Amino acid sequence: MKAIEKYAEENNVPIMDKKGLKFLVDYIKTNNIKSILEIGSAIGYSAINMALSGPNVIVTTIERDEVRYLEALRNIKRFDLDKRINLILGDALELKLEEKYDLIFIDAAKGKYIDYFQKYAPNVKENGTIISDNIYFHGLVEQNKKIEKKNLRQLVDKIKKYILFLKDNKEFETNFYKVGDGLAVSQKRKDDNENISNA
Ligand code: SAH
Ligand code: MG
Repeated sequence: MKAIEKYAEENNVPIMDKKGLKFLVDYIKTNNIKSILEIGSAIGYSAINMALSGPNVIVTTIERDEVRYLEALRNIKRFDLDKRINLILGDALELKLEEKYDLIFIDAAKGKYIDYFQKYAPNVKENGTIISDNIYFHGLVEQNKKIEKKNLRQLVDKIKKYILFLKDNKEFETNFYKVGDGLAVSQKRKDDNENISNA
Protein backbone atom coordinates (compact mmCIF):
# COMPACT_ATOMS: atom_id res chain seq x y z
CA MET A 1 0.00 0.00 0.00
CA LYS A 2 2.91 2.32 0.80
CA ALA A 3 4.24 1.86 -2.74
CA ILE A 4 0.90 2.96 -4.21
CA GLU A 5 0.82 6.02 -1.96
CA LYS A 6 4.36 6.90 -3.02
CA TYR A 7 3.52 6.50 -6.72
CA ALA A 8 0.46 8.76 -6.25
CA GLU A 9 2.54 11.42 -4.56
CA GLU A 10 5.28 11.36 -7.19
CA ASN A 11 2.85 11.37 -10.10
CA ASN A 12 0.31 13.81 -8.69
CA VAL A 13 -2.52 11.31 -8.60
CA PRO A 14 -5.25 12.69 -6.30
CA ILE A 15 -5.97 9.57 -4.23
CA MET A 16 -8.17 9.79 -1.14
CA ASP A 17 -6.57 10.96 2.04
CA LYS A 18 -6.29 8.56 4.96
CA LYS A 19 -9.07 10.01 7.11
CA GLY A 20 -11.60 10.03 4.29
CA LEU A 21 -10.61 6.51 3.38
CA LYS A 22 -11.03 5.31 6.95
CA PHE A 23 -14.51 6.86 7.07
CA LEU A 24 -15.41 5.09 3.80
CA VAL A 25 -14.07 1.70 4.93
CA ASP A 26 -15.85 2.01 8.29
CA TYR A 27 -19.07 2.89 6.49
CA ILE A 28 -18.76 -0.22 4.32
CA LYS A 29 -18.17 -2.45 7.35
CA THR A 30 -20.87 -0.93 9.55
CA ASN A 31 -23.51 -1.07 6.85
CA ASN A 32 -22.56 -4.53 5.64
CA ILE A 33 -22.04 -3.31 2.10
CA LYS A 34 -21.27 -6.03 -0.44
CA SER A 35 -21.42 -4.45 -3.88
CA ILE A 36 -19.80 -1.15 -4.81
CA LEU A 37 -19.53 0.92 -7.96
CA GLU A 38 -16.73 3.50 -7.99
CA ILE A 39 -16.52 6.31 -10.52
CA GLY A 40 -12.88 7.37 -10.83
CA SER A 41 -10.45 4.54 -10.02
CA ALA A 42 -7.22 6.44 -10.68
CA ILE A 43 -4.57 3.84 -9.78
CA GLY A 44 -6.87 1.60 -7.77
CA TYR A 45 -6.00 2.83 -4.28
CA SER A 46 -9.52 3.41 -2.93
CA ALA A 47 -10.93 0.40 -4.83
CA ILE A 48 -8.30 -1.88 -3.25
CA ASN A 49 -8.95 -0.48 0.21
CA MET A 50 -12.70 -0.89 -0.19
CA ALA A 51 -12.26 -4.48 -1.39
CA LEU A 52 -9.98 -5.23 1.57
CA SER A 53 -12.66 -4.00 4.00
CA GLY A 54 -14.35 -7.42 3.83
CA PRO A 55 -13.82 -10.79 2.12
CA ASN A 56 -17.17 -10.65 0.29
CA VAL A 57 -16.99 -7.09 -0.96
CA ILE A 58 -17.13 -6.80 -4.76
CA VAL A 59 -16.04 -3.57 -6.44
CA THR A 60 -16.68 -2.38 -9.98
CA THR A 61 -14.62 0.69 -10.78
CA ILE A 62 -14.39 2.94 -13.84
CA GLU A 63 -11.36 4.93 -15.06
CA ARG A 64 -11.10 6.80 -18.34
CA ASP A 65 -7.38 7.58 -18.32
CA GLU A 66 -5.47 4.70 -19.89
CA VAL A 67 -2.19 5.24 -18.06
CA ARG A 68 -3.95 5.24 -14.69
CA TYR A 69 -6.10 2.31 -15.74
CA LEU A 70 -3.00 0.24 -16.51
CA GLU A 71 -1.40 1.19 -13.21
CA ALA A 72 -4.64 0.28 -11.39
CA LEU A 73 -4.69 -3.09 -13.16
CA ARG A 74 -1.16 -3.76 -11.98
CA ASN A 75 -1.94 -2.74 -8.39
CA ILE A 76 -5.09 -4.86 -8.25
CA LYS A 77 -3.10 -7.90 -9.43
CA ARG A 78 -0.42 -7.21 -6.83
CA PHE A 79 -3.07 -7.50 -4.14
CA ASP A 80 -4.51 -10.56 -5.84
CA LEU A 81 -7.90 -8.86 -6.00
CA ASP A 82 -8.70 -9.34 -9.70
CA LYS A 83 -11.57 -11.66 -8.76
CA ARG A 84 -13.22 -9.04 -6.56
CA ILE A 85 -12.39 -5.83 -8.41
CA ASN A 86 -13.81 -5.38 -11.87
CA LEU A 87 -11.87 -2.51 -13.46
CA ILE A 88 -13.40 -0.87 -16.52
CA LEU A 89 -11.56 1.44 -18.92
CA GLY A 90 -14.00 4.07 -20.15
CA ASP A 91 -15.86 7.32 -19.56
CA ALA A 92 -18.46 6.80 -16.83
CA LEU A 93 -20.80 9.20 -18.59
CA GLU A 94 -20.78 7.09 -21.74
CA LEU A 95 -21.13 3.65 -20.20
CA LYS A 96 -24.36 1.89 -19.42
CA LEU A 97 -24.42 -0.48 -16.46
CA GLU A 98 -27.51 -2.55 -15.68
CA GLU A 99 -26.45 -3.85 -12.27
CA LYS A 100 -27.57 -2.35 -8.97
CA TYR A 101 -25.15 -1.69 -6.10
CA ASP A 102 -25.32 -1.19 -2.34
CA LEU A 103 -22.95 1.76 -2.64
CA ILE A 104 -21.83 4.09 -5.38
CA PHE A 105 -18.69 6.09 -4.65
CA ILE A 106 -18.24 9.20 -6.79
CA ASP A 107 -14.65 10.44 -7.00
CA ALA A 108 -14.06 11.60 -10.59
CA ALA A 109 -14.14 15.03 -12.30
CA LYS A 110 -15.47 17.46 -9.69
CA GLY A 111 -17.35 19.57 -12.26
CA LYS A 112 -19.45 16.61 -13.36
CA TYR A 113 -20.80 15.35 -10.06
CA ILE A 114 -24.46 16.17 -10.82
CA ASP A 115 -24.15 14.26 -14.10
CA TYR A 116 -22.68 11.16 -12.46
CA PHE A 117 -25.27 11.28 -9.69
CA GLN A 118 -28.21 11.56 -12.06
CA LYS A 119 -26.88 8.94 -14.41
CA TYR A 120 -26.13 6.34 -11.73
CA ALA A 121 -28.90 6.95 -9.19
CA PRO A 122 -31.00 4.22 -10.88
CA ASN A 123 -28.12 1.79 -10.20
CA VAL A 124 -28.48 2.18 -6.42
CA LYS A 125 -30.31 -0.62 -4.64
CA GLU A 126 -33.26 -0.05 -2.36
CA ASN A 127 -31.79 1.43 0.87
CA GLY A 128 -28.48 1.95 -0.94
CA THR A 129 -26.14 4.91 -0.73
CA ILE A 130 -24.14 7.30 -2.88
CA ILE A 131 -20.98 8.74 -1.27
CA SER A 132 -19.23 11.68 -2.94
CA ASP A 133 -15.65 12.73 -2.20
CA ASN A 134 -14.03 16.20 -2.18
CA ILE A 135 -17.19 18.05 -1.26
CA TYR A 136 -15.19 20.76 0.58
CA PHE A 137 -12.41 20.81 -1.98
CA HIS A 138 -9.40 21.83 0.12
CA GLY A 139 -11.63 24.15 2.15
CA LEU A 140 -12.36 26.35 -0.88
CA VAL A 141 -16.06 25.51 -0.95
CA GLU A 142 -16.65 27.07 2.45
CA GLN A 143 -14.51 30.19 2.27
CA ASN A 144 -16.20 33.39 1.15
CA LYS A 145 -13.22 35.19 -0.31
CA LYS A 146 -13.38 35.49 -4.08
CA ILE A 147 -11.16 32.96 -5.81
CA GLU A 148 -9.00 34.75 -8.38
CA LYS A 149 -8.25 31.90 -10.75
CA LYS A 150 -11.20 31.52 -13.10
CA ASN A 151 -10.97 27.76 -13.65
CA LEU A 152 -10.74 27.09 -9.95
CA ARG A 153 -13.61 29.49 -9.20
CA GLN A 154 -15.83 27.72 -11.74
CA LEU A 155 -14.97 24.35 -10.27
CA VAL A 156 -15.76 25.49 -6.74
CA ASP A 157 -19.06 26.97 -8.01
CA LYS A 158 -19.94 23.61 -9.51
CA ILE A 159 -19.27 21.83 -6.23
CA LYS A 160 -21.48 24.38 -4.46
CA LYS A 161 -24.22 23.67 -7.00
CA TYR A 162 -23.80 19.97 -6.34
CA ILE A 163 -24.24 20.54 -2.60
CA LEU A 164 -27.49 22.44 -3.28
CA PHE A 165 -28.59 19.73 -5.67
CA LEU A 166 -28.08 17.13 -2.93
CA LYS A 167 -29.87 19.24 -0.33
CA ASP A 168 -32.89 19.60 -2.65
CA ASN A 169 -32.94 15.98 -3.78
CA LYS A 170 -36.21 14.22 -2.98
CA GLU A 171 -35.04 10.71 -3.70
CA PHE A 172 -31.93 10.79 -1.49
CA GLU A 173 -31.28 12.24 1.94
CA THR A 174 -27.76 13.62 2.35
CA ASN A 175 -25.51 14.18 5.33
CA PHE A 176 -22.25 16.08 4.92
CA TYR A 177 -19.10 15.15 6.82
CA LYS A 178 -16.05 17.30 7.37
CA VAL A 179 -13.70 14.38 7.20
CA GLY A 180 -10.81 14.18 4.76
CA ASP A 181 -11.61 16.53 1.88
CA GLY A 182 -15.31 16.43 2.72
CA LEU A 183 -17.70 13.56 2.10
CA ALA A 184 -21.40 13.59 1.27
CA VAL A 185 -23.38 10.50 2.22
CA SER A 186 -26.66 10.31 0.31
CA GLN A 187 -29.05 7.63 1.48
CA LYS A 188 -31.81 6.50 -0.84
CA ARG A 189 -35.15 7.16 0.79
CA LYS A 190 -37.61 4.32 1.12
CA ASP A 191 -40.30 4.12 -1.54
CA ASP A 192 -43.18 4.21 0.95
CA ASN A 193 -41.88 7.55 2.24
CA GLU A 194 -42.10 8.83 -1.29
CA ASN A 195 -45.65 7.57 -1.57
CA ILE A 196 -46.67 9.34 1.62
CA SER A 197 -45.20 12.63 0.46
CA ASN A 198 -46.78 12.21 -2.97
CA ALA A 199 -50.22 11.42 -1.57
N1 SAH B 1 -10.75 7.12 -6.23
C1 SAH B 1 -9.32 7.26 -6.45
C2 SAH B 1 -8.95 8.66 -6.92
C3 SAH B 1 -9.65 9.08 -8.17
S1 SAH B 1 -8.99 10.55 -8.87
C4 SAH B 1 -8.61 6.98 -5.13
O1 SAH B 1 -8.95 7.60 -4.12
O2 SAH B 1 -7.73 6.14 -5.11
C5 SAH B 1 -10.18 10.88 -10.10
C6 SAH B 1 -10.08 9.99 -11.32
O3 SAH B 1 -11.28 10.10 -12.06
C7 SAH B 1 -8.96 10.40 -12.30
O4 SAH B 1 -8.04 9.37 -12.44
C8 SAH B 1 -9.71 10.69 -13.61
O5 SAH B 1 -9.01 10.23 -14.76
C9 SAH B 1 -11.00 9.92 -13.42
N2 SAH B 1 -12.14 10.41 -14.20
C10 SAH B 1 -12.52 11.70 -14.37
N3 SAH B 1 -13.64 11.77 -15.10
C11 SAH B 1 -14.00 10.48 -15.39
C12 SAH B 1 -15.07 9.88 -16.12
N4 SAH B 1 -16.01 10.63 -16.70
N5 SAH B 1 -15.11 8.54 -16.22
C13 SAH B 1 -14.16 7.77 -15.63
N6 SAH B 1 -13.13 8.28 -14.93
C14 SAH B 1 -13.05 9.61 -14.81
MG1 MG C 1 -11.15 12.33 -4.17
